[in-house]
Amino acid sequence: MKYVSTRGSKEESYTFEEAILGGYAPDGGLFVPEDISHVEQNVLVTWAAMTYLDLATEILSRFVTDVPKSAIHRICEKAYESFDEPILPVVELKPKSIFVAELFHGPTFCFKDLGLRILINFLAYFAQKRNQRISLLVATTGDTGPAAVKAVEDSGCDLLSILVHYPKGQISDFQRKQLTTVDSKRVKIVEFAGTGDDMDTPIKNIISDKTFSNTGDRLLCGINSFNIGRPLAQMTHFVWSYLRVVESLGIKPGDPEFELDIVIPTGAMGNLTSCHMAKEIGIPFGIITAAVNENDFTNVAFSTGLISKPVTPMKMTLSEAINIQLPYNLERILYYLSGKRSDLVKVWYHTLEEKDKIQLEQKWLIQLQMTYRSVKVTDDELCSMSREVLDLFGYWADPHTGVALQAAKKLGYFAQTTPTTNRELNVTVVMATASPCKFQSAVTTALGDDKWREYETKWFPRRGLDILGKEEITPIYYAAAPNQSLKENQYTWEQRARDIIASFGEC
Ligand SMILES: *Cc1c(COP(=O)(O)O)cnc(C)c1O
Repeated sequence: MKYVSTRGSKEESYTFEEAILGGYAPDGGLFVPEDISHVEQNVLVTWAAMTYLDLATEILSRFVTDVPKSAIHRICEKAYESFDEPILPVVELKPKSIFVAELFHGPTFCFKDLGLRILINFLAYFAQKRNQRISLLVATTGDTGPAAVKAVEDSGCDLLSILVHYPKGQISDFQRKQLTTVDSKRVKIVEFAGTGDDMDTPIKNIISDKTFSNTGDRLLCGINSFNIGRPLAQMTHFVWSYLRVVESLGIKPGDPEFELDIVIPTGAMGNLTSCHMAKEIGIPFGIITAAVNENDFTNVAFSTGLISKPVTPMKMTLSEAINIQLPYNLERILYYLSGKRSDLVKVWYHTLEEKDKIQLEQKWLIQLQMTYRSVKVTDDELCSMSREVLDLFGYWADPHTGVALQAAKKLGYFAQTTPTTNRELNVTVVMATASPCKFQSAVTTALGDDKWREYETKWFPRRGLDILGKEEITPIYYAAAPNQSLKENQYTWEQRARDIIASFGEC
């Protein structure tokens, strides 16, 4: 399997190794697999009987042909060894037949573990094979950073080192502690005086500068979800969730009469891309809904076709991990939506660079709306939903899952009671992307102190308690000069990041 750029020609193709080590394609586009072949129904039936690990191996080996299947299996084993059992429970909120896929049973309590641990173990594999040091560069809205750092530590690979950036004051205390309690010279943590995705451009500049990012025996690699390794690895959780829902409804896997709708709390659209690719291989997903908070880029794009660089400052919300104003993976969605028209994607993104916005033509908007919807959820609505699901179902939702549940309610999915296939609305599965344990302050705002205390005593995951007791190390700080524009500050931050990377030296 080769990989091509969303903005490039079919003739220029790359191996999986080149794609994940490169991060962005040389023309600035994103890598996508050259072809996504359909899985026959009888194969889906065999997949339904597999463990999570074997299913992940099967799916990945369709897309990763430059690593032996036995090595892919070992990579999956390593990635998932520290998960709860089961790795990914799909629970039903009875009697409403809303399914919730809990993607947060990994070591850092959010879905990022599922994809990042696979990607990082692939990077460790290639680092060893090439005998080359690889430094990983990350921007986080709170969950990616801890998952990446933990995956690097657990990989046991001395050739990997990592630099993580998070926006100061905009991640939870728990998430900050996950980062600042790691004491290793291969791990560097930075907080910066900006918001959400403000470090994306500096990072893109650094890793695209090949004379810097590929020098001597060090290779620099970006592992946010622009890196195709993540959307690929995340396909498994969509296939798995589908298989568990049909199993519990007694429907044959792949039955074309049954389409499963899906609601995803959406930030950078990594999960949306994975779900789209799962649909392309033949998983009968129906409507895919992107649930967002008041940073409503995706809601505007999906309802009007307007794609605009941010014109207002980021809004602070209770669902901080989805405070995103320009999701990178929109580029992959547009690529698939247009029938892989990389020529169009190239024009769209060049126009976006020059004019700061584009308006999708009606034709493409209609195409988009055949598969996608987006619902915007305010903090108040999120809080009332958190109370509602706790009252009705005894379910503890983290703020991001709460946003998705509220979106499902707004679309009418909660009005259903018994799951049948011949209904106006399909059965839906909501992606629960994080555990409430990471978000004390938001959960307390939604449910009150007493409920938080109840959660803490009865439900707080034991493994999470270690972090709370550890000593924090002061992170590196990138300040923002008040009289400078965001662009100017980003330039300064980029120089700081380059200096830190250079100082990794022997790590
Ligand atoms: C990262 C994150 C999201 C957003 O996922 P994308 O794939 O970037 O859209 C949603 N919820 C939580 C808890 C996250 O950490």
